[in-house]
Amino acid sequence: METLNTITQGTFLKNEAMAHHTSYGIGGPAKAYVTPMDKFDLAHILQCANKHHIATYFVGSGSNLLVADEGIDGLVITLGKSFNQLKINGTTVFAQSGVMLGKMVKECIHLNLSGVESLVGVPGTLGGALVMNAGAFGGEISNFLKEVTVMTMDGQEKIYNPEDISFSYRHSTFPENEIVLSAAFELIQSDTITVMEKRSKASGGRKASQPLKFRSAGSVFKNPNEGAAGYYIDQAGLKGTQIGGAEISPIHANFFVNHGEAKASDIVALIRLARETVQDKFGIALDLEVKTLGFKPGTFDV
Ligand SMILES: Cc1cc2nc3c(=O)[nH]c(=O)nc-3n(C[C@H](O)[C@H](O)[C@H](O)COP(=O)(O)OP(=O)(O)OC[C@H]3O[C@@H](n4cnc5c(N)ncnc54)[C@H](O)[C@@H]3O)c2cc1C
Repeated sequence: METLNTITQGTFLKNEAMAHHTSYGIGGPAKAYVTPMDKFDLAHILQCANKHHIATYFVGSGSNLLVADEGIDGLVITLGKSFNQLKINGTTVFAQSGVMLGKMVKECIHLNLSGVESLVGVPGTLGGALVMNAGAFGGEISNFLKEVTVMTMDGQEKIYNPEDISFSYRHSTFPENEIVLSAAFELIQSDTITVMEKRSKASGGRKASQPLKFRSAGSVFKNPNEGAAGYYIDQAGLKGTQIGGAEISPIHANFFVNHGEAKASDIVALIRLARETVQDKFGIALDLEVKTLGFKPGTFDV
């Protein structure tokens, strides 16, 4: 890590609490939390980490992340303000991974560009949205994707066309050892009424159904084929269940919220409880939507 500290030109934070970098406000220290200054800095950091076999993890703004109380034994890289270029030329949108998705969506709506307006209100960066194939109210980030640029661990840039990557419900096949740098989208020129209608439907639906006052990581589980994960957690009688400082939201049972002092272990206990109860009562296996970092294998199994 010391070598990395010396070569990094951006920000290098040693033993940085991940609680500062997750929407849950939960998570122990990462050995190093690095925000590269630019692409060249990033390339050097990746090459160095690769050469010294340092475990490396990529994150965006941590809005879909549960990090263990014990922290992360490795290097965490995020693309922040140095990767926040957003350019719109006609119907073509180019954005770097550090751009907040909400900002991109807002700019597109402003120009009456249709294609991403249903994603209004989805927190996080563009990088996180692409890897998660973020979606809401019938739209997914991959729908109008034209091209994605990534960087490999040897510091080389690589371009993917949409057909190179498989996108499905909250899933993509970007290799885990490549960091997403930027993407281009080809949207549709539309009109104010159409775009605003879709936008309002999405943001109204969100406000009505989600516990936005408390810290969370959005939906904990993916919806199974049988229906909404929240419905089954609710039907299992678990809405409002509290463990430590964490609670299965009484508003939306697939949102587990932090009342301020929750530990990762509290959320883990709720996850295990929900999985076990829904499996026992309905024979349905719930798959995690949140990404987890720093946990021992088997932590979430029931
Ligand atoms: C209140 C609330 C509501 C939400 N509503 C929705 C919703 O409606 N729809 C939805 O889809 N999601 C929703 N989410 C979840 C979350 O906002 C999305 O998954 C978001 O796209 C994550 O972006 P992020 O930058 O925070 O990524 P992170 O949480 O930091 O990371 C998510 C994943 O992406 C990877 N990653 C991030 N950046 C990069 C990169 N540059 N290169 C390679 N890998 C990377 C990480 O390794 C991790 O696996 C919600 C979350 C909250 C808190």
